[in-house]
Amino acid sequence: MSDKKTTKGTVYLIGAGPGDPGLLTIKAKEYIETADVVVYDYLASPHLLEYAQESAQIIYVGKKGGDHTLTQEKINHLLVEKAQQGLNVARLKGGDPFVFGRGGEEAQELLDAGVAYELVPGVTSAIAAPAYAGIPVTHREHTSFVSFITGHEDPTKKETSMQWDIFAKSNATLVFLMGVKNLGNIVEKLVENGKSQETPVALVRWGTTTKQETVQGTLSNIVERVKAAKLKAPAIIVVGNVVSLRKQLRWFDKRPLFGKNIVITRARAQASNLVQTLSKLGAHCIEIPTIKIMAPADISPVKKAIESIAGYDWLVFTSVNGVKYFFDTLFSMGNDVRSLGHLKVACIGPVTKERVADFGIISDILPETFRAESVVKAFADMDMKNKKVLLPRAKKARTILPEELAKMGAIVDEVTAYETQLDNSGQEELNQLLEENAIDLITFTSSSTVSNFMALLETSEKAKLIENIKFASIGPITSDTARSLGLNPAIEAESYTIPGLVDAILAHYMNGEQS
Ligand code: SAH
Repeated sequence: MSDKKTTKGTVYLIGAGPGDPGLLTIKAKEYIETADVVVYDYLASPHLLEYAQESAQIIYVGKKGGDHTLTQEKINHLLVEKAQQGLNVARLKGGDPFVFGRGGEEAQELLDAGVAYELVPGVTSAIAAPAYAGIPVTHREHTSFVSFITGHEDPTKKETSMQWDIFAKSNATLVFLMGVKNLGNIVEKLVENGKSQETPVALVRWGTTTKQETVQGTLSNIVERVKAAKLKAPAIIVVGNVVSLRKQLRWFDKRPLFGKNIVITRARAQASNLVQTLSKLGAHCIEIPTIKIMAPADISPVKKAIESIAGYDWLVFTSVNGVKYFFDTLFSMGNDVRSLGHLKVACIGPVTKERVADFGIISDILPETFRAESVVKAFADMDMKNKKVLLPRAKKARTILPEELAKMGAIVDEVTAYETQLDNSGQEELNQLLEENAIDLITFTSSSTVSNFMALLETSEKAKLIENIKFASIGPITSDTARSLGLNPAIEAESYTIPGLVDAILAHYMNGEQS
């Protein structure tokens, strides 16, 4: 937060979109990134807060179906107060601020108080939730107009402004917001005013998010179906013939992993690839990192090795972390890659090879895995006798590789380039999710993710966990560790990589083993 300034700040009323964080506008993102204060409510995705500066004040003002953490009056007062202190305020509102968002009222209050405001329109749920359910709100063959209607008229209003006869007679698509509780009444009024009982209707709850749910029917049976599905707010109600297009145009909730809640246990810094790929396939990914990766407490062994790099013949990398931390130290000592020009380079696995290639170095050989046969095969044509090998890797790494190289006559220097530690920052969330039975699958991408994961469980949960949840492992070594700790992975990658893991998960669910 900035210090008190003499000039007034500006309040940006920002449409935060309907829930999918990708539906935020570029302008909205820029304003969140530069705001001193971010004020948000129930419908704005908490992911968007990640764009805020670390120093920004983040204020939640609630609003969940009438349960207001702060009243509208207090919210207005807060916005004015912050702006008068000279702070720039990003006021995030679900969907579009001017579509049933009280954005107009907030803007008027700001102007009355002499505070500057700007408005950033957002993607409204009125259009986006139907769209993600495969329902276009207009279509030339079905309708020539669309109405956005409140399903929850201000109860203090004396006379109703709801023109039910017009809604009923037109062929407009009717989109009701805030109407779930009032569904029975909405249906009754439409039918009373002459709308056909056969008119298609859909409710889309938490549209555009991984929790999206759709219930479809006609005016004659929708109330019953919604009741049976126990569908609650927030949802959009769409009434009109366009709803029938969902059958053909459905896409978002048809993706193969839609509805699956998948826990990612990798270190946060490494998780994005897996999260992105699974999310694109429709999964809801929950990051519970079990590992923290950091420079070793003592970096002098790596430094010493780098100082005497001229005396080595080979540089062998076994992981992307090894690569990252080795080069970090190399560069921090004022060297560049030319100091490695005389070395032959080996990388275990294709991803490690790619990372080394980022530094302009092409790997001479590429053992696919740590397994002894794989290493022996890759080095088969190399004369390793008396060759000095530098092996920058994790503390406490497996010994197969140095042992195999030593058998070939090499002189191996293992140095600790990085350390891993148990990350318990997600422990509470994990145990809560288990309690709520809200996890379908847990992914393990290394043995330590398994053992650290087990360490995060509260003992009483372990039995329940094994009953209800599936495990996916990146390869046989990780699976062995899992089995030794009492977990039996239902899914194992065939190629021991992240894409291999994703393929295996996909194949599992596509084969109909969806229990
Ligand atoms: N300004 C918002 C609407 C706020 S009124 C917008 O433009 O989207 C609140 C109502 O919006 C909810 O009761 C619900 O009907 C609807 N809504 C908001 N987000 C939604 C979502 N992700 N899925 C379905 N309905 C949503």
